[in-house]
Amino acid sequence: MHWVPVAALSDNYIWLVADDEGNAFVVDPGEAAPVEAALAERGWTLRAILLTHHHNDHIGGVSDLVRNHDVEVYASGDPRIQPKNQIVGDGDVITLDAPKATFKVMAVPGHTLTHIAYTGEGFLFCGDTLFSVGCGRLFEGTPEQMLASLDRFADLPPETLVCCAHEYTAANIRFALTVDPDNAELRRRSDEVARLRAEGKPSVPSRLADECASNPFLRVDSKAIARWVNAQGQDHATRTERFGALRRAKDTFTA
Ligand code: ZN
Ligand code: FE
Repeated sequence: MHWVPVAALSDNYIWLVADDEGNAFVVDPGEAAPVEAALAERGWTLRAILLTHHHNDHIGGVSDLVRNHDVEVYASGDPRIQPKNQIVGDGDVITLDAPKATFKVMAVPGHTLTHIAYTGEGFLFCGDTLFSVGCGRLFEGTPEQMLASLDRFADLPPETLVCCAHEYTAANIRFALTVDPDNAELRRRSDEVARLRAEGKPSVPSRLADECASNPFLRVDSKAIARWVNAQGQDHATRTERFGALRRAKDTFTA
């Protein structure tokens, strides 16, 4: 399978995946033009669209793409997501004929209440739920819901490629270093991302194992994060409270 993160809007990535014959699908096309350009450049044919949630930077290009391509559009039942012709939910298995691929659908509320993710073929398409060294803002869900969603991701195979929808990694790392400064894996990732970005390359995808080692939002059970939460004056915080404290601190972090 061939894959490329197509840059769109200010900092979105639209994941474009194809087989050797050029049969392709995209995840979260917030814009049509960059997808059309990427398809044309490679001579690929769009066969399917997978959507994670209703925000316009993830679905804004769908109408144009369905006008120009014969595609199935997979999404949750949320009426805010239009157009679509395949409604999927937690536990559903999607089988694409071309490219030949199977994905499991996971309901992952938190960023929005109807956010879903797709996993299979070594990929995790997680939209705005998990970012590299960060996680999505809680626009609709609770810390408890988001933490449960991230816990499910953490149980996937360690080699899984985390394909998130934004280039937020460098800013996420600046925050992460303030809560987990002695984490050697985080420092290694920080150097790697600085080098990739200096070369004008995407910082993603990352390996799930690397996220589990460096992403503070996947490390609420670590001593380092517990220590940071204690230092904020929150003794005996539960893991949900630790997660909530991290998320709130990130919301107001500027550096
Ligand atoms: Zn979003
Ligand atoms: Fe987004």
